Amino acid sequence: MSGGEVEAIVVTRYRCAYCRRSWSKRPRTAEHAAKCWLNPDARSCGTCTNYHPGYDGGWDEPGAPSLCSEGLPVWITPDGYTDLRVHPRGCPSWSPAPLPPSEEE
Ligand SMILES: [Zn+2]
Repeated sequence: MSGGEVEAIVVTRYRCAYCRRSWSKRPRTAEHAAKCWLNPDARSCGTCTNYHPGYDGGWDEPGAPSLCSEGLPVWITPDGYTDLRVHPRGCPSWSPAPLPPSEEE
């Protein structure tokens, strides 16, 4: 590569204030943010004090499944992983977690 002209361009993107994902279109971003799993208004497991994430086991310990201290079902993918992004929204037992999970990139 040599001799080609290069121009700098500045691009505006829109970012979800909760999970920091970004999109090129504001309406798409607003649509996402309204139901983002980290938006407290969504009342999803990701921001709830009742949610306890599980963890994978190792060779000498079994690990633990994700669970809800209110005994409500916690969504788990067919291969056994918890995916907070698809957790139910609008939970009646939702209670704000003291510190929301940080997704800084
Ligand atoms: Zn988001």
